[in-house]
This record gives sequence, C-alpha cells and structure tokens, in this order.
Amino acid sequence: MTHLAVSIMVHDLAQASSAAIRAAEQGADLVEFRIDRFTQDADALIKLIENSPLPCIVTCRPQWEGGDYDGEEQSRIALLAQLHQGLRQPAYIDFELAAYQQSDQARRKINQAVDHPGQVGTTTTGLILSSHDMDGRPVDLYQCIEAMAATRACRVIKIAWMARSLRDNLEAFEIISQRHKPTIALCMGEAGLPSRVLAKKFGALLTFAAIDENSGTAPGQPTVQQIKNLYRWDAVDAETRVYGVIGWPVGHSLSPTIHNAGFDQAAFNGVYLPMPIPPAYEHFKATISSWIDASTLHFRGASVTLPHKENLIRFVEEVGGQVDALAAQIGAANTLTITEDGTLAASNTDSDAALTAVCHAMNITTSQLEGRRVALIGAGGVARAVAVAFARQKATVVVYNRTYDRAIALANSLTGIGGKIVPAKLEKLCDSCCQIYINCTPIGMHPNTNATPIEATKPTKGWGPGTVVFDTIYNPLSTRLLQEAQADGCIVINGVEMFVRQAAAQFALWTGCEAPLDLFRRTITDHFTDTQINGAG
Ligand code: NAP
Repeated sequence: MTHLAVSIMVHDLAQASSAAIRAAEQGADLVEFRIDRFTQDADALIKLIENSPLPCIVTCRPQWEGGDYDGEEQSRIALLAQLHQGLRQPAYIDFELAAYQQSDQARRKINQAVDHPGQVGTTTTGLILSSHDMDGRPVDLYQCIEAMAATRACRVIKIAWMARSLRDNLEAFEIISQRHKPTIALCMGEAGLPSRVLAKKFGALLTFAAIDENSGTAPGQPTVQQIKNLYRWDAVDAETRVYGVIGWPVGHSLSPTIHNAGFDQAAFNGVYLPMPIPPAYEHFKATISSWIDASTLHFRGASVTLPHKENLIRFVEEVGGQVDALAAQIGAANTLTITEDGTLAASNTDSDAALTAVCHAMNITTSQLEGRRVALIGAGGVARAVAVAFARQKATVVVYNRTYDRAIALANSLTGIGGKIVPAKLEKLCDSCCQIYINCTPIGMHPNTNATPIEATKPTKGWGPGTVVFDTIYNPLSTRLLQEAQADGCIVINGVEMFVRQAAAQFALWTGCEAPLDLFRRTITDHFTDTQINGAG
C-alpha cells in the first residue's frame, strides 16, 4: 500500500494538531511532523504524537539538508531518540544518511530509538534513512541507496532530489521498483510532479502532499485535494495508463482538469499530467523517447501545445509513425497517440474543433460551408489550422493580419486544398463582407479585456443577425468582441467550444470512448467563472 502523507511544519502544538486533523479529514493516511522549528519541548512533541489522528513520521531536518533546523546536532539526535517514549510511538523517524554515517555516537543513539533486527528494547518506530539534494540529481545516488539498503536498522529508503527534467522521474520509478526495502523516491520541482503522483503506480511507501497551497514543505509538492481529486490517487494502480500535456510553459493548462475528469466519468484507468519540456527539439525527442521506452510507465499519449506542435510531426516522422493528412497539411500536430504495441501517431484535432464549433452554432453540416466567406483575423498557428479546416470544405477564407506579409505567406503555403485563401490587410476588415468572423489573435485576452480586433473597423456590410462571430480566446469567456457582436444580434461562439472539442477528439482517440463534452464545458466554464469572481481571471 502506498500512503498519502501530509507533511506539517510544526510551529506549536495546537496548530500542528489541528493540521493533522485536517489532513485526516482530507483523506491522508499518514502525517509527517516536521519539527525543525519546534525542538525545545520534548513533552509537547510526545503529546502531539500520542494525540495524532494518523500514524506519524517525525523529522527534524537540518539546514545543511534543505531543512530549517540550525541548532546543535547532539540536541537534535537526543530529541529524536526520546520521541518513542510516549503511549503511542511515531511510526517512523526520518534521519539523514549523511548524519547517520558521520558519527558512531549518532548511529548508536538512533539505533536505540528504532525497531530493527538487533533491537532489544520495545520500540516499534521504524527508521527512514534519507538523502535530499536541493540542486539536482546527486552524483552518488546509487551509493546512497546501497548504503541505506545495507544498513540493518534502516526500514525505509528515502531519496529526493530536484528534478532537472521529466526524465528524472523515470529514475525515481526504477529505484522504487527495485524494492531493496520499502522506498520513497521523489523528484522535487515542477518537472518532478509525475514522481509524486505516480508513486502509487510503482509501489512506493508513500508520497507527500500539502494541506493547502501555502503549507507545502518541499518544492513541487501538490495539495491533497489535487492529488486525490485532480490526479485520481484512489484510482491509480500498476496498470494505469499515463497521458499528459506537453508544452513550455504548461503550468496554466486546463487540460489535466478536463481529461482527468473525463477519465473519471468514463471509469477509464488513466491519469493525465502536466509535462513541461523546454523548447528545443532535442529536449522533446529525448524526453518522449525515454517515456515511451519505459514500458512499465504505460505512457499512451499526450496533448501537445506551444512550442512543440511542429516538433511532434518531426519526431513521429523520424521514428516511422503515422502523421495524419490534416496535421501534415497544417504542418503542426497537437495529439500524440501511442498504441499498446508501441506504434506512434500524430494528429491535429484543433482544426476540426474550430470547424465543428461553427457548424454546430449555425446548425449546418460541414459540407454546407462550401462557397461561404470566412474572415480570419490573425495569421499565426491557430489561424493556419482554422484556415485549412474551412478551405478543405471549399469555403473562401480571407486572412486579415497586422503583418500583411504573414497573411500572404499563409495563403501561399496553403494552395490546392479546396476553397480559396486570400490575404488581406487588417485595416481592410471594415470592407469585408463575410458571414463568419473568427478571431485568431490574442487581442481581448486577459488582462487586456478592453481590446477588440475590430474596434474602429467594424465591417459595414452584412454584419448583424445571421453573422457568426467566433473568438478563439477563452479567458475571458466573453470577450469584448463577443459582447459587442451579441449586442448587434450576431451568433457568438467562445474559445471554450474549440478547446473542449479538440480535447474531446483526443479523448476519443486514447480511450475509444465518446468524450463527455458537457462535463468538459462545465469544468472549464466553472474554472473561469470562479477565477473571474475571485478577481484572478
Ligand atoms: P501566434 O501564432 O502567436 O499568432 C498570433 C497572431 O495574432 C498573429 O497573426 C499576430 O499578428 C496577431 N496579433 C498578435 N497581437 C496582435 C495585435 N496586438 N494586433 C494585431 N494582431 C495581433 O498565436 P496562435 O498560437 O495562433 O494563438 C492565437 C490565439 O488563439 C491565442 O491568443 C489564443 O487566445 C487562441 N487559442 C485558442 C485555443 C482554443 O482551443 N480555443 C487554442 C490555442 C490558442 P502578426 O503576424 O502581425 O504578429
């Protein structure tokens, strides 16, 4: 069994006790009392351990190992050595390997306080020998593990280091899987999140979580709520398939929220994680290759966002996988699918998502777009995917862009796919006569919510009831462009519709099930409604 442990920095007895009660209420099954700053009152600590609602680990981490304790080493050891004397003993004490190895006296005292094969006393407390590196992967990682494994008094091996990249998680999984003894192997920092969330998949003794955003005791520690509700802790097992969103940055992405909610609803054995990978192709290739090669990880797919959409096509082509025709035409893919036999496929679900969002709002089929005029505002990556979608249906797409040359380049690169793609200067938007307007720029996006791409240049011809105005922006949910278009009687569509539809197509590719589109919509809308109410949107 892998425990979900909450680490609590002890400031006083009342605060630590109530934090332990909250941890139990949230669903943790172990607490760690970090006594780095509370070392003067052994009686109070013994009482804290006796009254703890959950079994506990006691740790007094010195500053030289990344903690807060700056007192005498002898006092620290003496304190740890007497904490098993109450009516209830700590389940574990955590002691640093470096300190344990440094002095015979330290070893003797710690050994007397813990249960081990040579123990003659009545203590039941187990010893966690630990090693932490706050800067990166320790060069002597495996020597440390061997030393811990070889120590008779050591019941649990704990190793934690600051992840340099997503690849470090694989080494943590390997260490856990070797199972010399019950093991905790965690990577810290943003890139280390998979090691925390997937500790249960690999059979670690525990993972650590925080009660709330402000009380974490190590970089990158998720909250209990996140690990249980967002990352599906209770459902994760050795067979759980792993998915993620690859980008740089990805911390803000809502994809984990909707995909994990979808997996939950469909009772699909999967978990979806943020996967930050730095921009260069070499990083992308090395990380994805290593995650695919780790067979026990069951990495089965990813959403791919900026700046890796072109990298995905290059990678899948290089390894002999399938790039679908639409993605090849667009030159960018947003979905990686890895089948059980290791076959890779890259596809683009953005393009159809925009198309079906518009057709759904107009209550027409995609083929009924033939001959209609579509104004695209912008000539970047999203505009390109949208232009291909509508041109393939033989619509006429007019690309209005601030940098006219980019509009020309986009039109020239997409010839012969069906309808016409015509470049235009942004200031000519007022002369346009289109039935569908699609904003593919960030104009109007949070925090610049007063901006609109057609402020002074509102089209004079045909604009009004029946005109479709689609803003690909989803933060805010209703941009100034959409508010004004709605006031003029237009049919409006916000960016959530495109976002949930591209995600729904990914979900179907990975799970073989139809995505819960309404759940996706509700999840995103609730998120932005909450953050906008709280003033953070
Ligand atoms: P991109 O490649 O950087 O392209 C941005 C486009 O916006 C360029 O054509 C740029 O014009 C234009 N632009 C930027 N600032 C402008 C300004 N102040 N005035 C006039 N034009 C301006 O970005 P992208 O990846 O295509 O993304 C565009 C937008 O799509 C994003 O901002 C996002 O809101 C939205 N989006 C939505 C979804 C969804 O699922 N709903 C997904 C991804 C993105 P120049 O060529 O002149 O620089």
